[in-house]
Amino acid sequence: MVNRIEMEKYERLFPEAQELVKSSQTPDLVEVQRILKARGSSGISLSETASLLNLLKAPNETLIEEVKTSAKVLRKKLFSNKLTTMVPIELGSYCTSNCVFCGWKSDNKKIQRLRLSKDGLLDELDYLLGLGFSHFELSGGDDILFLKRDLYEFVRVAKDKIKKVNPAGRLSVCLTPLTELHYGTLAKECGLDTVLTWQESYSEATFNKYMVDGPKRYGIDDGFKMIKDGKGYLDRIASQERAIRSGLQVGIGTMIGLCEDPLSDILSVVSHGKLLLENYPDALPLIIGMPIWREIINEEYDSRSEEQNENQQDLVEFFDYIASVYLLSLPDYKAWVFPNCRVSKSKQMSAIESAGMFTSTMVRVGPGAYNLENLDTKKKFSKSNVGLGELTAEDVLAGEQFVHYFDTHENYLHQFVAGGFEMTSESYFLGEAACKSSS
Ligand code: SF4
Repeated sequence: MVNRIEMEKYERLFPEAQELVKSSQTPDLVEVQRILKARGSSGISLSETASLLNLLKAPNETLIEEVKTSAKVLRKKLFSNKLTTMVPIELGSYCTSNCVFCGWKSDNKKIQRLRLSKDGLLDELDYLLGLGFSHFELSGGDDILFLKRDLYEFVRVAKDKIKKVNPAGRLSVCLTPLTELHYGTLAKECGLDTVLTWQESYSEATFNKYMVDGPKRYGIDDGFKMIKDGKGYLDRIASQERAIRSGLQVGIGTMIGLCEDPLSDILSVVSHGKLLLENYPDALPLIIGMPIWREIINEEYDSRSEEQNENQQDLVEFFDYIASVYLLSLPDYKAWVFPNCRVSKSKQMSAIESAGMFTSTMVRVGPGAYNLENLDTKKKFSKSNVGLGELTAEDVLAGEQFVHYFDTHENYLHQFVAGGFEMTSESYFLGEAACKSSS
């Protein structure tokens, strides 16, 4: 097994990205064309990525289109017209962390909190398997008691259930970053395939400004205990390496718009991806997540300023451009760009056309929020801060983590097919990626 990446390298990701963004020139048409033409199978260099990102400082439509067109050609060459979908299943909205931007932060005393029971998880899976999904992401708040007591068992029963219906089905988690011991157990004993961990921000100052308390701020140890005076920011960046060493596929990404310097944050994702792939060339393709900072359901708990709202709109406008830069920057077949339902369907679709081959549909960001027909709350949930017997389907939906876009899986598929895409399962890409990147 290769040596671990030194922590200092992780610590330098953001400051070095900032330097590169600051020192690189905004390219003209000739330079953009040179960068795109010279691109080899290992992707463009970090300084070239910085140049392309700098275009967002004063967007020029011709240059932006030039980059998106090049990404579109590459996307077609690597993945043809194929596309695969995933769906998140929220396990619970209990959270011991306090992230300022999130509806489930421990400070939010108004939100109704729910924890899914094992029966509830199986019910949601049944429903979503019936719709044809083949990748399921178990996510939730930093519910340490749940992680310690139930996580292994929930992952095991979920994977067993998925395999019975679809042997090629895959399971991921998007939860508190865990230790190598935890990831090893999840991979080897419970059947987990993938770990998705979004960094929120690679800037330590931004991370600490928004992640003010709890396991996310400090990290956890093998016993699921919060680390006293730990650096959650660094522990989180290093978590993908721990998962790769345990044989898992990983996702990386930053919450676009959280950091005041979003271009350096985006460049840090690329730099992190390159670092992982240089050290672990046999790792499965990296999933490059594109979570966008969204407003939360209880307005009085939403701390975003007007200025931040405006900056956010600008970034949403260029969502497909950011997806394109990710694809062009990383090695062929080694990056699956993942546009999701935090942007409108048209923006999501545009990013898929330019660069994305892994996407989500029909997302609900609340526990138990998919199969609401014949809702038996006492069976579906194991814990709640309101009377379980009194909960209605509307109440369940009111507990979502943030505002997002929703449409049925069927409508999303209709749009994808109308756009010329053919739906496939991830195993197709894993087989293709394994063959082509090693040939
Ligand atoms: S972002 Fe995650 S860890 Fe932070 S408060 Fe929300 S649910 Fe908890």
